[in-house]
Amino acid sequence: MAKVYYQDAVQTNVLKGKTIAIVGYGSQGHAHAQNLRDNGFDVIIGLRQGRSWNIAVQDGFEVKTVAEAAKAAEVIMILLPDELQGDVYNQEIAPNLEAGNALVFAHGFNVHFGEIKPPADVDVFLVAPKGPGHLVRRTFVEGGAVPALFAVYQDATGTAREKALSYADGIGSTRAGVLETTFKEETETDLFGEQAVLCGGTTALVKAGFETLVEAGYQPEVAYFECLHELKLIVDLMYEGGLENMRYSISDTAQWGDFVTGHRVVTDATKAAMKDVLKDIQDGTFAKGWIEEHKSGRPNFNAINEADNKHQIEVVGRELRAMMPFVKPKVKMGV
Ligand code: NDP
Ligand code: MG
Ligand code: MG
Repeated sequence: MAKVYYQDAVQTNVLKGKTIAIVGYGSQGHAHAQNLRDNGFDVIIGLRQGRSWNIAVQDGFEVKTVAEAAKAAEVIMILLPDELQGDVYNQEIAPNLEAGNALVFAHGFNVHFGEIKPPADVDVFLVAPKGPGHLVRRTFVEGGAVPALFAVYQDATGTAREKALSYADGIGSTRAGVLETTFKEETETDLFGEQAVLCGGTTALVKAGFETLVEAGYQPEVAYFECLHELKLIVDLMYEGGLENMRYSISDTAQWGDFVTGHRVVTDATKAAMKDVLKDIQDGTFAKGWIEEHKSGRPNFNAINEADNKHQIEVVGRELRAMMPFVKPKVKMGV
């Protein structure tokens, strides 16, 4: 069993009084910055001029350019989009690092795949909340927390591990529990989870189910409810008590269908494909492809995004959700 750390494992003084620069004020950035500030840490924000800059100022933070923030801080948490981190790090952060500083990440991607090569005299660790930034903030305000992983990549000062635990405590995650991992494990499992199951696997499954019903002549509205809307109810039951709890709540007919049909859809071939996906992640093929796609202006990313936004399931879904005032995004899209 992996060891889980809680608040009592933390030497809270190790980061107190140090200036923490949160670079980026998006999904994760705003949550880390506000939770750390509420817990009494010294936080400044590093950004470029633009939308996030104005929001961070409105939220009462001292905002500087990334270079100035990196220079002023002893702890630099990089919460920029992964595909931009390498360039921003090389141009604005690396020249301003001092021996003994801590370079921190919420995802191991850039360090693990060699896009960022930190100097030997700084601590490098990650603290990765296992949930979207807006939940990191919301659960903290409600007195709870999103659990997190932490990992030390490089311990230059002999205190990197305590700093990582203190940071996890600062954003609230020790209330829920914090697990130790490595950059390799965090990066590869995070990418695999989001590609094969959480995002890629689920959207493909939902669309295929919807298309199958609509192509067979059923009403798209009914297909939407069966294949997308109800997914949340099932996932909530799994979240609360695993497969067993979900199966306890559904009818025996649904459970029998689950037993005899699940593996007809997600077959041995699907699992073989998952192993291929994992191999592409492990050997860097996925990371290389994504950085290249981004640097060439994202032609495929934009085309697929546009096509999926026009998919019938999205059109029908927008109409149906407009008639269900209780269903609305908790976070305004694009924020
Ligand atoms: P977002 O896209 O939500 O936010 C990015 C922020 O970076 C914005 O404030 C943006 O500001 C700023 N930014 C973009 N480019 C620059 C630049 N060139 N110079 C300065 N600031 C810039 O990112 P996320 O919070 O989603 O991701 C941050 C990190 O957290 C990533 O490593 C990700 O893997 C990790 N993570 C994310 C999770 C999530 O749920 N989102 C979960 C766990 C980890 P502007 O308004 O100017 O564009
Ligand atoms: Mg991820
Ligand atoms: Mg049903």
